[in-house]
Parts: sequence; structure tokens; C-alpha cells
Amino acid sequence: MSSSSTAGQVIRCKAAVAWEAGKPLVMEEVEVAPPQAMEVRLKILFTSLCHTDVYFWEAKGQTPLFPRIFGHEAGGIVESVGEGVTDLKPGDHVLPVFTGECKECRHCKSEESNMCDLLRINTDRGVMLNDGKSRFSINGQPIYHFVGTSTFSEYTVVHVGCVAKINPAAPLDKVCVLSCGISTGLGATLNVAKPKKGSTVAVFGLGAVGLAAAEGARISGASRIIGIDLNAKRFDEAKKFGVTDFVNPKDHDKPVQEVLAEMTNGGVDRSIECTGSINAMISAFECVHDGWGVAVLVGVPNKDDAFKTHPMNILNERTIKGTFFGNYKPRSDLPSVVEKYMNKELELEKFITHEVSFSEINKAFEYMLRGDGLRCIIRMDA
Ligand code: NAD
Ligand code: ZN
Repeated sequence: MSSSSTAGQVIRCKAAVAWEAGKPLVMEEVEVAPPQAMEVRLKILFTSLCHTDVYFWEAKGQTPLFPRIFGHEAGGIVESVGEGVTDLKPGDHVLPVFTGECKECRHCKSEESNMCDLLRINTDRGVMLNDGKSRFSINGQPIYHFVGTSTFSEYTVVHVGCVAKINPAAPLDKVCVLSCGISTGLGATLNVAKPKKGSTVAVFGLGAVGLAAAEGARISGASRIIGIDLNAKRFDEAKKFGVTDFVNPKDHDKPVQEVLAEMTNGGVDRSIECTGSINAMISAFECVHDGWGVAVLVGVPNKDDAFKTHPMNILNERTIKGTFFGNYKPRSDLPSVVEKYMNKELELEKFITHEVSFSEINKAFEYMLRGDGLRCIIRMDA
């Protein structure tokens, strides 16, 4: 289907629709309306699954919004653009992102922030900003969007501010994983923790996000990368990511921060927490060396969690920071992360542990629910 022949028209295509919380997705023929002002319609070629999709699909902790099309890690090609879109054109290779960059607000204009006022992640909104409506329907029934991306569909409509234009030579079946989790962990290290060459870095949680943080430590030239996880099964995979030491808090009677202090002559130079556990967040802070240590929190805590530490820990010149999407601005910064992969500085293949065809998408959910592997690539054309 050529891009010019479908511009301005409704496209009928396959999408995996979540009709109910926790129930397998159903392959449906959906209608995808043309993009409106400041929107683009994308042909998705590859998508993958991340915990956030599973979390909102299970809908245990939030108001359920169904029927909905999930998916937010993906790679695709621009099919057509709406009014006012000047920096994208049909044929451009892109990564859609769950959080955006309007380039106009205070955050977008600040060098320090990537938390755009207009397009920051909104998990409750199931419609497009322009008219408050969905671009997806089945026989006239609207199907809700998810975090502005909804990539479990052969075609989707996304705000232009949530689309990063990347090098067309980059293989989309690999770089699609940079849409969310991998960039988050990588950026937490490279943009926020910023370890010096030769330093010691602790990574709490060895899932995809934590291993991407470890990859950032490897790229930074850390001499020691200590992986901490409650699940010893994670340690084998982590060896491929340059993790040099492993600590399972369950193997020790004392707090893991004390174990780390003993292993490192007083504390690590940097730590990155990628678990979502409040205990790990406190340990990740208290395990950094006084005088210079920096801890970075990445994991999303539970609603009622509270961070408790003695203020002396901070007075003794330890720093605690947090990051959202690894501090990357999606449109301005993601293209350069793709270039890091292209010039072989960053390895992505080791994150991709499974691949399925679009019709087998429910298998990708099973892998993730079982904690099997890191990323499953879903091929839309198969
Ligand atoms: P994951 O579940 O694959 O990995 C988490 C790992 O942490 C698991 O291996 C688990 O065994 C381990 N763990 C749990 N509690 C622990 C503890 N107390 N001590 C040591 N290890 C512990 O998850 P993931 O996909 O890698 O994501 C990690 C976190 O990052 C999640 O909380 C996710 O919500 C969050 N996240 C944040 C952002 C952001 O922008 N800040 C973006 C994406 C994901
Ligand atoms: Zn903005």
C-alpha cells in the first residue's frame, strides 16, 4: 500500500484489542481515522512489550479503560501527516514514544528537563488531544488509545511531539526497544548518574531497565558493576551485560547497603535503582560512598510508599536523584541513542530474547508474566 494512496482516508487494518482487563488480546479489523492537526499516522513494523502494558492491561491498581489498544515500544514508518506537521513526512522512519516533547513549554525549553507540560505521559487518557476523541473504531464503536501510542495495531495515530525521527538505515526490529525501557535505564546512567571511568556502579534490579543501566555503566568505562537482585536466575543473563559482581540480599543477614559498603571500601560511586521496591530505593541511596556518591531512582514505587533515611546520610555528601525516561527528550535526543547503536557503542541484540508474529502476541504476554527473558519482538507483517 503506497503512502500517497491512503492519505486522508480511513485505513482498515489488524489490531490486537484488549476488550477486558487481564483477558487475552483479540485480533480485530479496526478502522484508523486519518491524522488531525499536529498528528501523524504511522505504519508499525515492529513492537515489543514492556511491564507498563501488562500493568495497565491487568488494571489491578487503576481505573480500567477498555476496550483499548495497548503497546508503546515500537518502530515504524510515517504513512501520512496531519495539518501543521512540518518536520515529518511520509516514509520517515520513526520511534513513537509514550511521553512527548512539544518544544514550546517551559520543560521543553529547559536544558535540564524532559517532562513536557503538554505531552508528558498520561495513562488515564484514552483519546487524542486535538478533539478528545479516539482515532480507532470497530463498526463505529471507539477503541481507546494507550499512552498516546497504541502500537499493537498495524496503523496508529500519534501526536507529532511523541515521534522521534531516526536514521532510516537503523534496523527497526532492533532499535524499536529504545522506545521505552532500554532508553530509560541507559539514560539513568549516562545522563543522570554519570559514572566516571574506572568507577564502581551498583545496579538494583536486573530486569531490562536495570540491565540497560548496566549497559550504560559498561559504556561509561566502569571497572566494577555490581548487580543486586532477589532473583538469582537473573544473574546468568546479567553476565552478558558486563555485570562483574552479584549480590542477592536474601543471602545476607544484614542490610544489603552494609554488604556493599564492605565489598567496596565504604560504598559505591554510583547506584541505579531499577526495581520499584521501596526497600531497594533506600538501600540504593544508603550504599553510595559519602563525599561523592550519587544514587538514581528509576523504579516506580507503590502508591503508599514513603522514603525514609537519616538526614545525616545526605549531609555526608551523598546525592539522591530520580529520572523519568532516562532524562532523554524524545524528539531531540533519541536519534542520537539510535546512532550509538549504529556505531556499535551500544549493544541491543542481547536485550532481545524472543520474537513472535503479530497473531501470536498473547505469547509475548505469557513470557513477560513468567519473567522469561527481557524483550519479545512482535513482527507486524508476520
Ligand atoms: P523487571 O520486573 O523486569 O525487573 C525488576 C527486577 O527487580 C526483578 O528482577 C526483581 O527480582 C528485582 N527486585 C525486586 N525487588 C527487589 C529488591 N528489593 N532488591 C533487589 N532486586 C529486587 O522490571 P523492569 O521492566 O526492568 O523495570 C524496572 C522498574 O523501572 C519498574 O519499577 C518500572 O516500572 C520502572 N520504569 C521506570 C521508568 C521511568 O521513566 N522512571 C520507565 C520504565 C520503567
Ligand atoms: Zn513541552
